[in-house]
Amino acid sequence: MFVPLSRPDISTLEKRYVTEVLESGQLSLGPKLREFEQRCASLAQKKYAAAVNSGTSALHLAVKILGLKEGDEVITTPYSFIASSNCLLYERVKPVFIDIDEHTLNMDAEKLEDAITEKTKAILVVHVFGQPADMERIGRIAKKYQLKVIEDACEAIGAKWDGQPAGSFGDVSVFAFYPNKQITTGEGGVLMTDDEAGYRAACSYRNQGRSDSGNWLEHVRIGYNYRMSDLQAAVGLAQIERLNELLERRERAAERYKQYIREYEVEVDLPKVSARAHMSWFVFVVMLPETANRQEVMRLLSENGIQTRPYFPSIHLQPAYRALFGYKPGDLPVCEKQSERTLAIPFYPGIGEEEQKYVIRHLKKAVERSKSR
Ligand SMILES: *Cc1c(COP(=O)(O)O)cnc(C)c1O
Repeated sequence: MFVPLSRPDISTLEKRYVTEVLESGQLSLGPKLREFEQRCASLAQKKYAAAVNSGTSALHLAVKILGLKEGDEVITTPYSFIASSNCLLYERVKPVFIDIDEHTLNMDAEKLEDAITEKTKAILVVHVFGQPADMERIGRIAKKYQLKVIEDACEAIGAKWDGQPAGSFGDVSVFAFYPNKQITTGEGGVLMTDDEAGYRAACSYRNQGRSDSGNWLEHVRIGYNYRMSDLQAAVGLAQIERLNELLERRERAAERYKQYIREYEVEVDLPKVSARAHMSWFVFVVMLPETANRQEVMRLLSENGIQTRPYFPSIHLQPAYRALFGYKPGDLPVCEKQSERTLAIPFYPGIGEEEQKYVIRHLKKAVERSKSR
């Protein structure tokens, strides 16, 4: 049996919307893009949304429209996909990492205040694996120190904290649509904000710095080509209309995994979900016992056709970050310890009971065998 790590779920609706765009003759900056953006804004309860060609681009523009620049510091988490920190480096802003909570794997809000300096301008919070960070507490600290909040909700569309949707908390918030995310556009991202000037600047930046005068060859700032095409927006619109269905199927798959892990008595831990969080299941991550050898577990699973990935390596220990900032093992011990034992196993809306049982049976065997070597 082959069980992939993830697989997008595409229905006839996506195909219909893409065909509509193809037949309309307007493949960029058309009505599907605007419709998709409106759906994103309303999900995040924000006034404005600007869709772009990736989540990384959306994060980059978030940094730009908040006016962050060289000399500024932004507090963020080392346990994330690297884009949440790279977006700061594009503008020569310094990421300041604080350690994570060992149970939720999110930024440990307890450690926030100690990291604030004169140079701190913002907090970039990530809702890792679809569980929101403690936005009540982070928001309170941001307010107290007059810091902006960038909300990287790339893994958390549809999640909630205290009943409020992910994406609604940041001064600028971001969703992403790579094929392994809860919904996809192939490649894509979107930023949401209530700030009209910031929104207009983002639309200009994504479109070669054009003004909204309508003059196609007037460039009022140095921009980028970060546009999302209407073909991508058409896929996204269909996916967002199906969001609840897709999230429910992901949730059912996660519940089955938890049940099989109990039934088969597999020696793994799971990240804990706060009672205040409503999870949007992005990936299914298990925490291996410290005595197991993750490399060996992955190899044994792979031999049986089961794809896995060691989400996430500590960002501060990536070679590029060590070279830039001189980080070394031991700097952020909780993040380092957990990142050495977390492993994402196959997870997507269409995964079935048989595949999941197969994965869990082999996971149990692999963990046991890797320990006895
Ligand atoms: C997916 C993701 C992004 C954006 O990724 P792209 O591949 O550029 O769309 C950013 N941050 C996090 C935490 C992510 O998981």
